[in-house]
Amino acid sequence: MAKDTCPCPCNTCGVETEHDVIVLNDLREEDSDGNSVHREISAIYCRGCKTAAIREIITKENTKEKQLLYKPPRLWLQQPKWIESLESIDPTIHGLLLEVYSAANDDQSRLFSMGIRSALDRVMTYLVGDIGGFEQKIDDMVKKKHISENQKETIMIVIDASSATQHRGFRPVRDLLEHMIAVLETIIHQLYLLNPMLQTLKTQIPPRPPRKKSKSPKKKSKKNK
Ligand SMILES: [Zn+2]
Repeated sequence: MAKDTCPCPCNTCGVETEHDVIVLNDLREEDSDGNSVHREISAIYCRGCKTAAIREIITKENTKEKQLLYKPPRLWLQQPKWIESLESIDPTIHGLLLEVYSAANDDQSRLFSMGIRSALDRVMTYLVGDIGGFEQKIDDMVKKKHISENQKETIMIVIDASSATQHRGFRPVRDLLEHMIAVLETIIHQLYLLNPMLQTLKTQIPPRPPRKKSKSPKKKSKKNK
């Protein structure tokens, strides 16, 4: 058995890490068109977290076209570490986010896009109540200083893209979906976790001592003897 190392994406580490590779099977087969296909099946072990997975490399000998398969499949999007903190704060947004990441990693891009819109709607309802459509809610968010005017513009673009998926069959490309989820993550992290934490921190900071009025130094008049 050949043992080697190579960089592979790791679901647990969330990045590409060095893996030990043990080749389990090295096969040459013919596909349905009679072309020779090289199939290499290996066990891979992450050197960081020690988790194991199976990697299969399928190479078409005539075109050198390669296909990489992993079991379990490699995750496209990693859930942020803070996602579990949301469960006690707002179980609805926590559940919605889990479904959004699940749709992303199952390659269900339309469901993923629509899920982002539902999650943004939930964030707004949580903060300002169910006071109407997106526009009313987002205006109220700005008025109550939950978000800035700039953030409002960004969120509206994401909502437009999601609405286009829902109503006009728009299928956003991966790059766009990555930007959309980044906007959602930033808003949720800021509004549910960071802002309340900073408010708590504010109460714990010892107050500054009052400034002493600066006195101009008295000039000592020395009498010339
Ligand atoms: Zn790992």
